[in-house]
Amino acid sequence: MAYDPNNVFARILRGEIPCKKVFENDHAVAFDDINPQTRVHVLVIPKGAYVSSDDFAAKASDAELAGFFRAVGEVGRLMKVDASGYRILANHGRDAHQEVPHFHIHVFGGENLGRMNKPPRD
Ligand code: AMP
Repeated sequence: MAYDPNNVFARILRGEIPCKKVFENDHAVAFDDINPQTRVHVLVIPKGAYVSSDDFAAKASDAELAGFFRAVGEVGRLMKVDASGYRILANHGRDAHQEVPHFHIHVFGGENLGRMNKPPRD
């Protein structure tokens, strides 16, 4: 899938849409999810144009990979959920219902998250 430069997270990166920024480094930006599912729900996105986790894992440089995952750790500490625990999740593609085609990791925390959900079976 080709990268769509007008996706909502690309527009946030360009400053065309506001966000509640939590953290930024050379390779990543983290901001509150607009529709939080848990008390802490932050999205971490790379600054580079990557469609999904598969695209990022295949094409990002070592510096981008490191900077991105350092940012995820920073978010956990800044949101003060590193001791209590948190869950990270990335949806890739149709079966995972990825909505925004710019790679992002969700950081969920601030409450008991229960066990990981099993997928629904029809
Ligand atoms: P996903 O299904 O993994 O692609 O999740 C996309 C996430 O982006 C959802 O949790 C949305 O609530 C969130 N989202 C969409 N638009 C915005 C926005 N403008 N600012 C912050 N979060 C957003």
